[in-house]
Amino acid sequence: MKPLVALVGRPNVGKSTLFNRITRNRTAIVDSTPGVTRDRHISEAEWLGRQFRVMDTGGYCHDRDGISQAMLEQTMTAIADADVILFLVDVRSGLTYLDLDMAKLLKKEYGDKPVYLVVNKVESQQLQFEAESFRKTGFTEPWFISARDGSGVADLLDEVAESF
Ligand code: GDP
Ligand code: MG
Repeated sequence: MKPLVALVGRPNVGKSTLFNRITRNRTAIVDSTPGVTRDRHISEAEWLGRQFRVMDTGGYCHDRDGISQAMLEQTMTAIADADVILFLVDVRSGLTYLDLDMAKLLKKEYGDKPVYLVVNKVESQQLQFEAESFRKTGFTEPWFISARDGSGVADLLDEVAESF
């Protein structure tokens, strides 16, 4: 099996936008394995000649009380199946309790798999400055990207592809 890169993070941080960019809009395969996960999207990708798979998570309902059950299940499955985890956060909304909950969950469950903290929507110097605050998640080496514009994504993928 090709290595699996999982995109995790609370809703609206830009996981699907990054997924589409990495997989270049190749048709996502909906894995409908019963009882395992809902709305699990996996697609093939390639970088520096290395082939891998990317898993998008999402499709969970909003839940103001923290991590919803669906989000928890999908994230746990992603962590279990992945070889590399990209933990996405959104600089435009700032660090939220949900991000901190996700960070705690990742710290507890990821074992020794590489987790990259990816701060998305960093499209100005001011936002880059603000993005530093995400070190409070406990993941102290943030990567700054714009999934929309593509900045930072190549550097991140260079690093990820090296870790396979
Ligand atoms: P998901 O819920 O984590 O999958 O997030 P989506 O990929 O659906 O994106 C949520 C919203 O953020 C959409 O309106 C996107 O257009 C927007 N978005 C995603 N990536 C970026 C980015 O790099 N910069 C900006 N400014 N907006 C983004
Ligand atoms: Mg999504």
